[in-house]
Amino acid sequence: MKFVYDFHEGNKDLKDLLGGKGANLAEMTNLGLPVPPGFTITTEACKQYLQNGTHAEGLTSEIDEHLAELENAMGRRLGDPSDPLLVSVRSGAKFSMPGMMETVLNVGLNDESVAGLSRQAGGNDRFAWDSYRRLIQMFGKTVCDVPGEEFEDALHDAKQAKGVKDDVQLDAEDLRALVGAYKKVFVKHTGHEFPQDPRDQLDQAIEAVFRSWNADRAVLYRRQERIPADLGTAVNVVAMVFGNLGSDSGTGVAFTRDPGSGEQGIYGDYLANAQGEDVVAGIRNTLSLTELERLDKKSYDELLQIMATLEGHYRDLCDIEFTIERGKLWMLQTRVGKRTAAAAFTIAAQLIDEGVIDLDEALTRVTGAQLAQLMFPRFDLSSEPSAITRGIGASPGAAYGEVVFTAQRAVELAAEGKQVILVRRETNPDDLPGMIAAQGILTSRGGKTSHAAVVARGMGKTCVCGADDLEVGPSSFTVGNVVVNEGDVISVDGTTGRVYLGEVPVRPSEVVQYFEGELDPADTDNPLVAAVHRIITHADEKRRLNVRTNADTGADAARARRFGAQGIGLCRTEHMFLGDRRELVERLILARTDAERDDALAALQPLQRADFLEIFREMNGLPVTIRLIDPPLHEFLPSLEELAVRVAVQHEHGQHVEHDEQLLAAVRRMHEQNPMLGLRGVRLGLVIPGLFAMQVRAIAEAAVALAAEGGNPRPEIMVPLVGAVQELETVRAEAEKIIAEVAGDSGGVDILIGTMIEVPRAALTAGQIAEAAEFFSFGTNDLTQMAWGFSRDDVEGAFFWRYLELGIFGISPFESIDADGVGRLVKIAAEEGRAARPGLKLGICGEHGGDPDSVHFFHQVGLDYVSCSPFRVPIARLEAGRAAV
Ligand code: PEP
Ligand code: MG
Repeated sequence: MKFVYDFHEGNKDLKDLLGGKGANLAEMTNLGLPVPPGFTITTEACKQYLQNGTHAEGLTSEIDEHLAELENAMGRRLGDPSDPLLVSVRSGAKFSMPGMMETVLNVGLNDESVAGLSRQAGGNDRFAWDSYRRLIQMFGKTVCDVPGEEFEDALHDAKQAKGVKDDVQLDAEDLRALVGAYKKVFVKHTGHEFPQDPRDQLDQAIEAVFRSWNADRAVLYRRQERIPADLGTAVNVVAMVFGNLGSDSGTGVAFTRDPGSGEQGIYGDYLANAQGEDVVAGIRNTLSLTELERLDKKSYDELLQIMATLEGHYRDLCDIEFTIERGKLWMLQTRVGKRTAAAAFTIAAQLIDEGVIDLDEALTRVTGAQLAQLMFPRFDLSSEPSAITRGIGASPGAAYGEVVFTAQRAVELAAEGKQVILVRRETNPDDLPGMIAAQGILTSRGGKTSHAAVVARGMGKTCVCGADDLEVGPSSFTVGNVVVNEGDVISVDGTTGRVYLGEVPVRPSEVVQYFEGELDPADTDNPLVAAVHRIITHADEKRRLNVRTNADTGADAARARRFGAQGIGLCRTEHMFLGDRRELVERLILARTDAERDDALAALQPLQRADFLEIFREMNGLPVTIRLIDPPLHEFLPSLEELAVRVAVQHEHGQHVEHDEQLLAAVRRMHEQNPMLGLRGVRLGLVIPGLFAMQVRAIAEAAVALAAEGGNPRPEIMVPLVGAVQELETVRAEAEKIIAEVAGDSGGVDILIGTMIEVPRAALTAGQIAEAAEFFSFGTNDLTQMAWGFSRDDVEGAFFWRYLELGIFGISPFESIDADGVGRLVKIAAEEGRAARPGLKLGICGEHGGDPDSVHFFHQVGLDYVSCSPFRVPIARLEAGRAAV
């Protein structure tokens, strides 16, 4: 197996093996762009290293060969004292994980080659010593786990001793002394000297990059972004070029379009006389690319040309890292760039207009998760709140919360259920847990390409960065004469970059206004709304899956219909019995005589009929699946503990309240240890005579009433929690009788009768059950609960964190369908059900119906529709379209 690829040998389609960075460096090399020579060590080599703790067989000699080639190409040897080749060692996984893994620059420098480097740079001692101290710092931190602050402190001391503020004000002598100080820090923490052998440095740096795949923050990032844990990272070894050789050098980041809005143009940041990660780290405030035009027109023009080439080649927005070394432009990285949700849609629409992609491809360029972000509310500025400051709107959204200043505090408060805004001078990868926990992020330094901005955009988190009039302290920040302390509430607008004191109210986003029918896409000059309209319309044309909604009120049904729902897939009737009506259900369940029970049912019947009529009206002409009542009893009965205490207290006072005593006895009688596995669903219908009958009658009567008004009701009666066909047959026989009675001479209305498939036994006997069911709807919430044996109400908080940590699953199976296990049950039931009854209608109404990955799964197994909450209907429409192209 080949473990090392020269840049000439790879291409952009080898991301699995070479990682994104390596594959794209190879692609740029092949395009003839100015990429410094180098080679990539594959993800396979990383995986083997992580598995065995040593290099894969043959890797070392392959590195030897490629290093020799690189030395030949550059005409220099690694770390040669008189004329050293220096290299960077950079991680690069298949999926971009900004700043999560490691990089070591300037490998090859030591006490001798530092002089050679100075000579190469025309006698620039300052540059050489600065490069050396950076190597010790990065190597110490990354390879040997020396605490970064120790180096920061030494640098700080050096500046203080000299009485200067900026790194660039330290001269060669100061930096030489700093190298001495850094070496002491190194020895103190590692117990040995900083390694002087260049090849040893290289090997250690490569291993450290391999190991960084499993660094805590990388693990956390992958979990957040649902990146598989077993991919490994590639390692890129690249000849160093220097942006810190003086004012005719520098380093920068550029986008071929605005990653915030998608507008075409020149976007990016540039820092003169700086190296590597300085721009992304947000250490100094950057210049815009237009400034570069003024500083170095030749490089600027070349950069523009290259950007055009890259966009043409990749047919998408690209982001780029470049360095200018004494007026010569070098490309260090490119990739199809991360972008905001809004930009994803607008760029896709622009590319269609430009004839670069077609509508089908546009569907692959956006996701349901991005659409979900666009449906979040925006600030309502009608009360004209005045902003305390304005930074760069780096990742859109409207967020408010209590101010916190450390990632740790953000995590603590979020665990208490609080909304927080993380305020930092700049963020670094260690802040990731806090960024995940926070509603929004505010920084005082760094541009649109700073770590905070890039990571927040990737996560869809609101972020304002570079608010440079903010003075950020450890427990407060000031802006002008306003002081904001930890715990104070601020509001952050990631679109405009404005920051407000207190909580600014929010209003629906424009995309929601569009779905609501309040914004006409033909009429609006809002390019985002136009783009969303165009793409989702195409998704509707392409998709095979229908999308229904879970709704149990007229208002929800109406909204879902506006959002594009093609019917109701689940109306949970037990939701109609909460609130004021709970007592009626309680009376029914606890009834001791037929008369008591009939009274309670008679009271419920007209209420139910009115409920159903309202829903049928809203969904006129579309199917409405009404599920017969499925109440976990404990939700409807008074709490046993409270009641027992109340009666005990009454006894203490010598009282005997008959009602309470009877109630207590009844609740004791009905008490269940596992209510979710107890008297629910069809079981309750079989135990309490008249309950299902009352509901069926109400459904049939409501349907007849709407038909009489000239409407077109399409009811479907669904029986919950069926595990055996006999259960369904019993309910069905009774229901058919009632429906026929209600129809009387009028002929009535067609009503389908079907069942939920949510008990594993139902899935495994689907062939039998289909004999008695005109449709199946998979209840993947219960099916997941019962397939795994996980109590759906308890486990997420209790131990899922550990399962996620161990990688037993990458995401809760209640959130995204477990294709291998629960999904298999769905597949079996779909196949056997359809074999027994061709044309059997199949849907899904568990929470998974609105989850993007799950929608793709349900498409693949051939269901007819998914059903989800109203707000997720557009997301399911889009994903169903994406699944079909
Ligand atoms: C299900 O179990 O997936 C379902 C839709 O029913 P409920 O969530 O009401 O139990
Ligand atoms: Mg269920």
